[in-house]
Amino acid sequence: MAYDRIDVPDGTRIELADPETGELDVPEDPIVPVIHGDGIGTDVAPAAKRVLSAAAEATGRSIEWLRLYAGGRARERYDEHLPAETVEAIREYRVALKGPLTTPVGAGYRSLNVALRQTLDLYANVRPTYYLEGVPSPMTAPEEMDMVTFRENTEDVYAGIEWEADTDEVERVREFVEEEMGFDDVMHEGPIGIGVKPITETGSKRLVREAIDYAVENDREKVTLVHKGNIMKFTEGQFGEWGMEVADEEYPDDEVFAAPDSLWEEQDEVDVPEGAVMVEERLADAMLQWMQLRTDEFDVLAMPNLNGDYLSDAAGAQVGGLGVAPGGNFGHGRMLAEPVHGSAPKRAGQDMANPTAMVLSGRFMFEYVGWEDAGDLVRDALEAQIASKRVTYDIERQIEGGERLGTSEFAAEVTERVASTA
Ligand code: NAP
Repeated sequence: MAYDRIDVPDGTRIELADPETGELDVPEDPIVPVIHGDGIGTDVAPAAKRVLSAAAEATGRSIEWLRLYAGGRARERYDEHLPAETVEAIREYRVALKGPLTTPVGAGYRSLNVALRQTLDLYANVRPTYYLEGVPSPMTAPEEMDMVTFRENTEDVYAGIEWEADTDEVERVREFVEEEMGFDDVMHEGPIGIGVKPITETGSKRLVREAIDYAVENDREKVTLVHKGNIMKFTEGQFGEWGMEVADEEYPDDEVFAAPDSLWEEQDEVDVPEGAVMVEERLADAMLQWMQLRTDEFDVLAMPNLNGDYLSDAAGAQVGGLGVAPGGNFGHGRMLAEPVHGSAPKRAGQDMANPTAMVLSGRFMFEYVGWEDAGDLVRDALEAQIASKRVTYDIERQIEGGERLGTSEFAAEVTERVASTA
């Protein structure tokens, strides 16, 4: 595609080295697309780029940022919210960083974020959830949290197949369900909204495969499939069954071990082959409490869309919440890294927001391209900065004796630490 409206910098592309495995060929000077985004994106994205560029340089590399536009900025420049070249550049350059985007009202789709994920079929939303020393947390032992959640990104009740009350469509669906499918005593009389919850074998298996591959490659011990299969047998239950099939049939037992009967039995006694990743199932409601009460027992979680939305936010809250929660969307050898938080309009443009979540999303991107050393520099620098208690408002208001810094000042100090500890 010709990029007439964007400035492509000098640098080298990240290419796909192996289409089978999704392995990438990453140069030392990659072109990395970046969308600053809306609201506080205009504060945290430039701050994060500064820290990440410094970490790349400190490890003998450079990042050539390719600025792309989406959301309000794209609307101002091109009179559209999601220009084709933004999507195509992410497709072509493979690994990109994105700030939050405000969902425009009445734009014909529900969310730009969803549109981006769907167009590029980034089917796995992945959040590494770990504790940064010094961040205020509601837990007594937040450091026990070191979990990576894989949330299916394309189907479930989020697929958007639903009908509004008092429309002809919803009444036709009701009639079909009652009269043709025989559920004639389930739905109450009067106005009704109806949605459909599609869970496919393809969608479930590719998500679980990503989670298992991640666990194997990153020396994790366990993958937990989280669902409500006891109630929603043919959707959530099927997710669990298909997921266990992946574990059982696609990997050797000494690499991945599918624990039998894990829904109903304690797993302490299971004889897992030495070094193998254990794959188990857990029910979502119980999992929400175990995540708090038995945090250190869990490792990698794989979930349908709705469970993933709830559980990943709850896990993030245990280690300090939105200001520090990174994430990324994956599929077909591509990654779009983005913080969990939104555009927080009331804090926008005030040089106030915490850039940590965006910086850590960049760290996650570094890990994906094999730059773990640069990622560790970033994490160490953030922890040292938080330990100094010179922090942004969201952390400062929760700790004793803290000093409040703006976004850019905080990022400048973290950048200095990255450069000086290299
Ligand atoms: P939000 O933007 O995440 O903000 C909610 C609150 O969380 C903020 O008011 C602020 O709390 C705190 N917060 C979030 N990020 C922070 C940061 N970096 N530093 C410090 N505090 C932070 O959620 P929202 O207000 O529900 O959503 C606003 C817009 O963002 C919506 O249009 C939504 O659709 C969009 N959104 C986009 C994405 C995405 O792009 N992936 C994700 C979620 C939401 P205090 O008020 O306590 O300071």
